[in-house]
Amino acid sequence: MPRYEHKCLKDICEFLFEVTYGIKEEPKINCPKCASPTQRQIGKNIMFETPVDVDWEGDPKDLSPKSFKQYQEAKKIKYKW
Ligand SMILES: [Zn+2]
Repeated sequence: MPRYEHKCLKDICEFLFEVTYGIKEEPKINCPKCASPTQRQIGKNIMFETPVDVDWEGDPKDLSPKSFKQYQEAKKIKYKW
């Protein structure tokens, strides 16, 4: 089962902890310290399923939304160099 990082939404607490639950579940997890609602932390360890292999010559509009996102990400990387 995947592990998720949850962060307490209470300003003075902001307790960060890991929870394990199924990929399709989205349970409401309360902070183990202060029992406030918590929020799942995302965007830290997101990896592309495949290396970027979009058609550079193609019109981005013809790509699927997912590929289009990869295209945009790849563009960002490309501009760095
Ligand atoms: Zn808390």
